[in-house]
This record gives sequence, structure tokens and C-alpha cells, in this order.
Amino acid sequence: MTVQSKITSAAAEAAAVLGRLGVAEALWTGGDRPVRSPVTGEIVAHVHDASKGEVDAAIAAAQAAFLTWRTVPAPRRGELVRLFGEELRAAKADLGALVTLEAGKVVSEALGEVQEMIDICDYAVGLSRQLFGLTIATERPDHRMMETWHPLGVVGVISAFNFPVAVWSWNAALAVVCGDAVVWKPSEKTPLTGLAVQALFERALARFGDAPAGLSAVVIGGRDVGEALVDHPNVALVSATGSTAMGRAVGPRLAQRFARSLLELGGNNAAIVTPTADLDLTLRGVAFAAMGTAGQRCTTLRRLFVHESQYEAFLPRLKAAYGSVKVGDPREAGTLVGPLIDQAGFDGMQQALADARAAGGAVTGGDRVEIGEGFYARPALVEMATQADVVKRETFAPILYVMKYAELGEAIAMQNDVPQGLSSSIFTNDMREAELFISARGSDCGIANVNIGPSGAEIGGAFGGEKETGGGREAGSDSWKAYMRRATNTMNYGRTLPLAQGVTFDV
Ligand code: NAD
Repeated sequence: MTVQSKITSAAAEAAAVLGRLGVAEALWTGGDRPVRSPVTGEIVAHVHDASKGEVDAAIAAAQAAFLTWRTVPAPRRGELVRLFGEELRAAKADLGALVTLEAGKVVSEALGEVQEMIDICDYAVGLSRQLFGLTIATERPDHRMMETWHPLGVVGVISAFNFPVAVWSWNAALAVVCGDAVVWKPSEKTPLTGLAVQALFERALARFGDAPAGLSAVVIGGRDVGEALVDHPNVALVSATGSTAMGRAVGPRLAQRFARSLLELGGNNAAIVTPTADLDLTLRGVAFAAMGTAGQRCTTLRRLFVHESQYEAFLPRLKAAYGSVKVGDPREAGTLVGPLIDQAGFDGMQQALADARAAGGAVTGGDRVEIGEGFYARPALVEMATQADVVKRETFAPILYVMKYAELGEAIAMQNDVPQGLSSSIFTNDMREAELFISARGSDCGIANVNIGPSGAEIGGAFGGEKETGGGREAGSDSWKAYMRRATNTMNYGRTLPLAQGVTFDV
């Protein structure tokens, strides 16, 4: 299928944007790693992969910076993040344009990703005055027991291509106010946005004045550079976002050296459409969650369970919505679905559709849309009788499997019957169904929503999921505790030494 679409050069645009964002030309020309824009398929830059020695040097500088930064009062550390938030506000349009060019997001979603960075900066600035511990009742007279939270050390961030800048900021904004230093390995598919964010952070550092050098660094490269961060004894925490396969490799390596891990891995998110669901609202919620970001969000809606009483009314409307969305150049107004990241993403989609057909699924959509050298596809709807194996795995593409159910208990059981546990939703106007869904007997995911889709989380809540999604939590609520170490302090202000549990030890 061919769609007429105006293709303008991504390379020229990327060069102009990188210049305005203050990224030195030497960083994106002359390296050995080509960077391809999914929008046009063009090579837009060549970046330099960090050697093992360069990674070690970045970690050593970060460790030295940490030793100073941990002594700076937290609200003062918050001032650096406030200044960075200002830089992001000023550069929002350019950074958003670079996200579009490098990750293929439509303009409003790319700007939304930068807004998410700004939001987490605002949150972290407030948090810098709220890093509190508890005071706890002690059993001993003239004693006080309390907990104190201290900076942790160097935080390694490994990020995925699909949120090329926001994921780093969820980690870095909190880590910096918590008194840590950060070394970031962006996805090898999106290194330019990583370089641009570092350039903006350096502007904030310059305005701040006396932050230690090495507080934030970017190391470009593939798996080997990630492994260098994972294995380094001076990296206290690795926050790794990506596939379950990546987490399966990274988690045990970190455990081997007793380092902390924060894993944000794949999802296989579901929604349940009940007999009382408002179908207008449900349609909007499902359409954005399933087709937005071309199905390349960890929280993308991949499985839909529709009550048998709603199926005949809802499916034709959903198919019509699928048929009407504009697939095309994400820079163009009106485009809702941009490209897949690369050929592997497209091939993975086609393989999943073939597997679904073989398992008896009826496929609508999913065909390629020819635009330049990019890999564009129409979002696919697949009606399935049961949850075949293909439905239980995450395919990082716009495929929505739709199934019928009769009893809510059955729908919840099917929803939970996958290895992943990131996000979930129910569309209902029945209070009992809504409460059951978010209860201990309901969704087993880290995120369980009512009358909104599973994607598009705000930064105020803790973000993450259970089971093969890795168990990590980032962003709001008390996620900051992952970036600090806790000390329990017992203070004796009396003149005797009573021992806990009534133990006597008289010498
Ligand atoms: P990926 O696993 O291919 O790569 C992610 C990052 O891990 C990259 O930077 C990569 O270089 C690095 N990496 C890969 N193997 C490694 C190893 N053995 N050691 C160290 N580093 C390693 O993932 P992707 O294709 O970039 O992103 C898509 C995946 O990420 C999907 O599964 C999606 O669900 C998931 N994701 C999860 C979240 C979340 O918050 N749960 C958010 C975004 C994306």
C-alpha cells in the first residue's frame, strides 16, 4: 500500500536541530556508528562508541563528583534540577523535533515526552526538600530511633529507544537531588537525543556554577557499553529499561556483585471492556493506548477482552477507527501513527501476525505503508478465540489482540495469565467491577486503571510492573528511595545502657 507523503530530508533537519541544542559537531560526525532516522530511513549522523577505557573514566569522574555532591545540601542540589528544567522549557521544541527524527514519534507525543522531563524536574525540585526518614518509637528509655537517607553513589542508567529522553530524566532528576552522580548509556538506536540532553544539562551546570565535573555523563554504544556499567564495582545502582531479555542478562550480573538493580522491562498490557462500559470513552482510550507511538510503548495496549454483550457493538467501531488513522511522516500535521523503529521491528510485527493467523486469528490491517525507506505499517487488529502463545509474548508493534469473555473473573484470569505485569485497565461504570479489578483479587500489574487506557502515565505515581516486567519503580511516590541508602540510627541521651529485648550483660 502506498501513501502519498511529503518526505523532507531528516539529515538536514537533524543537523540544524543538533546545532541549536548545542551538541558539538564532532560528537555526531566522524564516528563509526551510523544513526538512522526511522522517519525517512536516512543515515543522519555517525557517533563514536565509548571504549571500555572511556566508560571507566566516566565512572571514575562520576565517583569523584559523587564524593563532593553528596555533601551539598539537598535543596541546593534541587536548584541544579530547577535550572535544567528551565533549559528544557527553552529547548522543548528542538528536543521534541529531535525525538521525532530519531525515535519516529509524532510531534505531540515527542513534545509530550519532553514535557514529562519538565514535570519530573519540577517534582524533583520539591522532593529536594522532602527527603525524609521516620522517627520510630523505641523500647528503651531516653533513646530515640530514626532513619536517615543518604546519597547512594554512581547511578548507571541504561535506556530503551522508545522513550529516548524521558526515562533518563525520571532517573537522573531524582538521582541528582538525592546526591548521586549519573552515567547514562542511551539506546544505540537513539544516541543523538542522549547527546542533546547532556548538552542541555551542561548548560544548567554552567549556570549553577560550582557543581563537580563528571556529575553527569553519556556513554554511547551497544550491549558491551551497557555491560561495562553493569559490571563496574563503583556503580552502586543500575536502572535498566528495555526488553525482558535484557533484564534477564543484567539482573543476575548485578546480583552477582550485590549491586542494586532497578529493572523496567517489557509489558503485555490488557484492557477489559465490561457490559456497562461507556463505549465512546472506551473507543478513545483503546485507540490511543493501542495505536499511539505506533505500538512502541512499554504500556501499549496489546490485549483487549470485550464482554460478549458489547462485542458486536464495539468491534465495528474499533475497526473503523483503525481504518481511519493517518499513518505517515510523524512531522506532518494529522499523522497519528509514525514509523516502526527499524526493519527488525517491522519483521517482528509480520512474524507475530503470521503466528496469529496460524493460531486461527482473523487479522485486519498490519500491511506495510511505503514511505521513503522507513518501516511504516497500518496498525493491526487480530480477533482471537483464545490467548494463543503469540498473544502472551510482547511484540513491540501496533498489534491489538481482541478476545470475547463471559464472566469478569474469567477476563481477569486471562489478563493475568501472561509472564509480564506492567499495566492494565478496566472500562466499567459498575463500582463493584472497578473495585474488584484494583483489589488483591484483581489485576496483578504494577499499574491498574479504571476508565482510562493502560498507557500515558503521569510522573506523580510510581511507575513500573511485576513479574517479568522486573519489579522496579521509577518517577513519583516514594521511588526516590531507590537512589539513596537508608541508615537506622538509635541515639541514647540517658546515663544508663539498657539493652534491647531486655538482655543483660553486666561486666
Ligand atoms: P533492548 O532490551 O533491546 O535495549 C534496551 C537497552 O539495553 C539498550 O540501551 C541496549 O543497548 C541495552 N542492553 C541490551 N542488552 C544488554 C545487556 N546484556 N547488558 C547491558 N545492556 C544491554 O530494548 P529496546 O528494543 O530498546 O526497547 C524496547 C523494550 O523496552 C520493550 O520490551 C519495552 O517494553 C521495554 N520498555 C520498558 C519500559 C518500562 O518502563 N517497563 C519502558 C520503555 C521500554
